[in-house]
Amino acid sequence: MKIIGLIGGMSWESTKIYYEYLNEAARDRLGGLHSARIIMVSVDFAPIESLLKQRDWDGIAPYLVTAAKQLEAAGAECVLLCTNTMHKLAPQITEHISIPFFHIIDVLGMALQENGHKQVGLLGTMATMQNEEIADMLASRYGVSVIVPDARDMDIVNQIIFDELCLGQVHSASRNTYLEIMNSLNARGAEAIILGCTEIAMLVSSKDTAIPLYDTTALHASYATDWSLS
Ligand code: GLU
Repeated sequence: MKIIGLIGGMSWESTKIYYEYLNEAARDRLGGLHSARIIMVSVDFAPIESLLKQRDWDGIAPYLVTAAKQLEAAGAECVLLCTNTMHKLAPQITEHISIPFFHIIDVLGMALQENGHKQVGLLGTMATMQNEEIADMLASRYGVSVIVPDARDMDIVNQIIFDELCLGQVHSASRNTYLEIMNSLNARGAEAIILGCTEIAMLVSSKDTAIPLYDTTALHASYATDWSLS
């Protein structure tokens, strides 16, 4: 079993979900007392989130590059960056490591393509929903076009992530708000919804809606498990 490296802490509420998924998958696949081999570097999210508010990507990069290098030096055999938003800095990170980095959008794109999706809705942080590189990557590599909520709804989606989910708060009123926004994306032609933020599955799941959901946390962790056991 290969050792999976995690860059966590953004937020730690979702990092613990990665930890659970990876271990559950190892147990389910191998049985008995098997568990995943993991090395984690977990950052303090507060200074990073302040830089994110100012879209200071150059300011954030050193935190993530350092974490990735620490993982490699400690013996991790791959890197998972446990946040969609921070994949904006994937090029800077991969430049400094020689172990594989599994880009969350590639993992997502493969799943969308496998299921034949052509147009999907994207929910995530404001930085993710406004990140044209994500839409371009899904369109050019996987033939999937992305639609996002209108400006007002993007604000609401973003606010619920940072003011509630990243703090471990899950409110049913916010779940209903997300479901309404998902329904309106569906009415605009989204065949499925990307849960493009690693905390969103804390709030909504396929039990809540008939619209197909693509949870990036689960997809990313499952991809790493397959690789680790291959
Ligand atoms: N975990 C989140 C994501 O997947 C948001 C927090 C962050 O800005 O990294 O995008």
